[in-house]
Amino acid sequence: MTDQKAELHPVAPARGDVPAERQCLRCKATFWSAGFGERICKRCKSQASWKSASASASGSARRSSR
Ligand SMILES: [Zn+2]
Repeated sequence: MTDQKAELHPVAPARGDVPAERQCLRCKATFWSAGFGERICKRCKSQASWKSASASASGSARRSSR
């Protein structure tokens, strides 16, 4: 008889998945991170310069596929 109930471990949030103060990877400034994945402060994010692959590339990116 298998009467063994799987123990339900309380789902604990992974470390780093909670809002906490972190250091921005860009300016090394301490900012409030909303959670995991938030490694860039809003200041740097607003700059959007860290976002590569922009459509503002030079005309050399335009090539006809025909
Ligand atoms: Zn920053």
